[in-house]
Amino acid sequence: MKLAIQGCSHGELDAIYASLLRTEREQSLQIDALLLCGDFQAIRNHADLHALAVPQKYRQLGDFHSYYSGEKVAPILTLVIGGNHEASNYMHELYHGGWLAPNIYFLGAAGVVELNGLVVAGISGIYKGNDYRKGRFEMLPYDASTIRSCYHTREFDVVRLKALKDEQVDIVLSHDWPNTIEQWGDTQALIRKKPFFKDEIQTKTLGSPPLMELLQCLKPTFWFSAHLHVKFAALFHHDQTASAAEPSTVVAPKTNANPEALDIDLDSDVDDDAVPQSPPAPSTSTNITTNSTLNNPGATTRFLALHKCLPQTHFLQIIDHPSPHDVQLESRKSALNYTQRIPPTLRYNKRWLATTRAYHPHFSLQYRQSDLPNPGSTSLSERIREEEEWIEQNLLSQATTRNGGKRKQDELDGSRACSPDKEGEEDDAGGLDVYRVQRFVRTAPAPFEPGGLSQAPPAWYTNPQTEAFCGFLGIENKINPRPGFFPPTTSQMHAQQPFQAPYDVLQAAVDGQDLSGQHDQEETTDPNALAIDMDDLDSDCADATTQAADDNHTQHQPDERQAVLTLSDDDDELNARWKEGTG
Ligand SMILES: [Zn+2]
Repeated sequence: MKLAIQGCSHGELDAIYASLLRTEREQSLQIDALLLCGDFQAIRNHADLHALAVPQKYRQLGDFHSYYSGEKVAPILTLVIGGNHEASNYMHELYHGGWLAPNIYFLGAAGVVELNGLVVAGISGIYKGNDYRKGRFEMLPYDASTIRSCYHTREFDVVRLKALKDEQVDIVLSHDWPNTIEQWGDTQALIRKKPFFKDEIQTKTLGSPPLMELLQCLKPTFWFSAHLHVKFAALFHHDQTASAAEPSTVVAPKTNANPEALDIDLDSDVDDDAVPQSPPAPSTSTNITTNSTLNNPGATTRFLALHKCLPQTHFLQIIDHPSPHDVQLESRKSALNYTQRIPPTLRYNKRWLATTRAYHPHFSLQYRQSDLPNPGSTSLSERIREEEEWIEQNLLSQATTRNGGKRKQDELDGSRACSPDKEGEEDDAGGLDVYRVQRFVRTAPAPFEPGGLSQAPPAWYTNPQTEAFCGFLGIENKINPRPGFFPPTTSQMHAQQPFQAPYDVLQAAVDGQDLSGQHDQEETTDPNALAIDMDDLDSDCADATTQAADDNHTQHQPDERQAVLTLSDDDDELNARWKEGTG
């Protein structure tokens, strides 16, 4: 499977996709998925700009709203994590992960999915020690403090990921770098490129200490980051982790330890970059790394940080990495004579779902976060094992009978007919298909919709995807519960049936059924069904729908009389680091 990895996006989605498509043409290859390492800026409308922590002069809508509104569609399945310049309100709506727009999936504050069978984990935000052990206490409207603390990574999310320590983890995405990872590559070259960080590099204070713990815990094959706006590769050898604890003593091993072996040199195309609006910097000499193996012995993690999307920068990396479902993917492509783009499978990871259930009672929305279970403890391991059994009994065993082994995305792409052995490739894990549980629904209005041009601070929304995920997993939606909704007790949660509604909708789409009448019925009782979605695009009822949503308090407007938060252009650390490339 060919994966493209990109550093910071900063709202430049058009350029990123144009670069990818151009690289595909020039190299005669097809990229199966794109991984974006934060600063994505999923800004749906002007209101979301109030949740974006950048100096005023950088507050721009960017490209994302066109993908959100449906005007454009991401051409390649895209996985996203959050950084420190985000529409933090929208990302919090999808705390557990979800579709930011069609074909663009956010992994959540922390999340793990299986991409064509490869285990891909993501952790959003950046590290700030003062906020690390707090709960997710931030609420809209953000003030000058919470607009920043909301993107600070929390221990709760790191600890949950650590619980995957016995799993094979192929790829981890983080926005900031694991602390001291720069010691495992060409540190001097990095200082030459980024002298601004010299002190932090020399004092070993660059990056996130919890992420280095996570790296040593999970031992992933690859770790991709962004944030410092520089391309940098490192090879972390886990058998030297004892010395890694004292990085000043570490000498990156010389034997077979060329970090650049991971690199694919995407030299800039200077001529094209000189043309304004042209896709920046796809390579004319891309070499695809093919020496990766499926079974990472856990001995080495290949770290690569990438630049932000600018002409003549190394912002894009393509790797060719074997995946467990390569054969099936290739067979589906081949059956269509490679005339269509066939997306890889995207599934939830069972262990992650079990971990999410096990830790959910400890999830705090208060300032204080109570002590968390040790991910290495026997009692927690036992609890996670129980939750895995719950998932097998409730989410997997029923799935194949429910859906007949069909994947919605494949159906939509017409690949069903081209895959004679498709039924055979399906297994119980098909019940964990992301497409089956969550579907993209717009909550906030796109700019052209009623209310979409409002400059007022953003409302908050009950996000149907978060409802769907929580319903699927049998956990309380603590993020954006429907107003007036009283969560069931824990025992009721465990007793309830797996969430069914999304599947009905998906299956109807596959079967070509019209459920519009049924939806009308649901809308009278489910305020979430009134959230603005794609169907309302050209509807005469758009105004009425929006009004009805207001009436049902699905949308929660802040007091518009309050002062609008602004960050001044000379705002301390933020502006300095932005300019120096720590965005
Ligand atoms: Zn950035």
